[in-house]
Amino acid sequence: MGANDTAPRAIVSVRDASKLYASSNGELNWAMTDVNLDIGEGEFVCAIGPSGCGKTTLLNAIAGFVEPTTGSVTAGGQPVTGPGADRGVVFQEYALFPWLNARRNVEFGLKMLGLGAAERRARAEELLALMGLSHAARRYPFELSGGMRQRVAVARALATRPKVLLMDEPFAAIDALTRASLQRELLRLWRELGLSVFFITHNIEEAVFLAQRVVVMSPHPGRIREIVEVDLPYPRERADPAFGAAYARIAAAFAQSEEVAS
Ligand code: ADP
Ligand code: MG
Repeated sequence: MGANDTAPRAIVSVRDASKLYASSNGELNWAMTDVNLDIGEGEFVCAIGPSGCGKTTLLNAIAGFVEPTTGSVTAGGQPVTGPGADRGVVFQEYALFPWLNARRNVEFGLKMLGLGAAERRARAEELLALMGLSHAARRYPFELSGGMRQRVAVARALATRPKVLLMDEPFAAIDALTRASLQRELLRLWRELGLSVFFITHNIEEAVFLAQRVVVMSPHPGRIREIVEVDLPYPRERADPAFGAAYARIAAAFAQSEEVAS
């Protein structure tokens, strides 16, 4: 019993995690150092920071694509030893298989779960409907707009019914209007599915619009500089003065992390 009883249980815990890369010329580079982060059940966390501050490395460590050099990562209380159906991942772009139509792309990960063909198809159709893409199920990626491609990528990441959604600058290449609607849709999914989301962005406004907490990172070596709470109700209004105040707090932390970068 204690104060922790009221805090949401952590679904992801990163403890003292560091990652050392050796480049081909033998140079050593700490992509991230001493990262400690809990992502609560049902929490929406954004990470922001200049290029090279270790955002992708941290996400990849949670996804199980990268093994930390030191420290540990757990998901659902289990040590992360590789990718898993409990963690869905969405990348910035080019992540769909060009030779598969939208429905087949969404189905892709389900074979490994041992689902039969009919069940895979039904699940994919359900997710495409959730993303407003039923009409595009048979289209190939080249026949989809950038926004639609990312909706398919989200549907695919959700196909295994993960508890955690990991997103690495998923909307960075999308035009501003489409991006705004994708952000609203993501918040709806987060709510409806009770997901925990870890979302990397370059965009402070996007972080303030989406996140309950914003992890501000800085490079050389990559590390967490500050974690800013954004205690605003949803849906958030960009014109709200409180939105501007949260923006200013994160911008200040971001500016400090860029000073470190230069
Ligand atoms: P961010 O996503 O914030 O831009 P990254 O996590 O991609 O940062 O990279 C952090 C640092 O680690 C950078 O200096 C990058 O060059 C280096 N790095 C990332 N991946 C590798 C790799 N596979 N091999 C060597 N260095 C890497
Ligand atoms: Mg990155």
